[in-house]
Amino acid sequence: MLAPPVPTLEHLTPHDLVTYFRCPHEMELGRASRPHPIGGPVAPVRTPADVVPLRHSPLFAPPIGHITVNEGPLDVAPLDRLVYEDPGEDDVPVLFPPEQVRLDGRFSNGHPTLIDGEWGLAGRPDLVIQRSDGAFVPVEYKETHLFVGYHEAHGRLFDTVQAIAECRLVEVTFGRRPSHGVVWYGDASGGGSREGWVEVPYGEAEVRWLKVALDQVRSDAVRAPVPAERNCASCGPNALGLCRYAAARPAGANAPTLATLPGTGHHP
Ligand code: SF4
Repeated sequence: MLAPPVPTLEHLTPHDLVTYFRCPHEMELGRASRPHPIGGPVAPVRTPADVVPLRHSPLFAPPIGHITVNEGPLDVAPLDRLVYEDPGEDDVPVLFPPEQVRLDGRFSNGHPTLIDGEWGLAGRPDLVIQRSDGAFVPVEYKETHLFVGYHEAHGRLFDTVQAIAECRLVEVTFGRRPSHGVVWYGDASGGGSREGWVEVPYGEAEVRWLKVALDQVRSDAVRAPVPAERNCASCGPNALGLCRYAAARPAGANAPTLATLPGTGHHP
């Protein structure tokens, strides 16, 4: 079978949006250091050497006023169906008995990525559920982000960004707009006692936000670094020593930060 067409716009994934929201340079370094997920050339890093680091990402936050927070396990009803699962994710707990699994055949032959050619977006939700009323819901599973302390924890906005982008992919793929996406906070080590999940609405405000966000990322010719310990300590490219602007190094990494490079005059 032929590979799916590559979007003509710069290819972006929900994960790209998440990393751009944290630090545009992290997105740029990651994008330029991994194989293109659906084919096509890898572009070089565009950040100029004399870039001025930013204090915050230039991407404004998505709407969050109507997120629904639920404690407890994510249950499914007897008439719900599992219609998609990312074959690359094997740590997602089993939600559906075999008789409720109806995987869409389009994604079972080596092309598991959901592609939105119109908006140049592609990615893989962990799961897509079809409810008994026909509605589709993408589910993103966060194994390591405990639900406990949901409202206080850093990073929940990033999960919201991912859920909104996955709703768009599901809308394009299955032909029906989800009313929301789900972020499911698992608790594998605690036997499920601290699980929870949130519903992230996908309405007109979120659609507009996503469109503008994609346009903004593509039109950003700099993709500046946002050096901050909370970002840099868990940054993938930083762990490989790829970022010279880092405010902190992950434990065990010994590459220099920009502040320690001679002649940079950088003070994060
Ligand atoms: S190390 Fe920090 S500044 Fe550099 S790309 Fe990562 S998050 Fe951005």
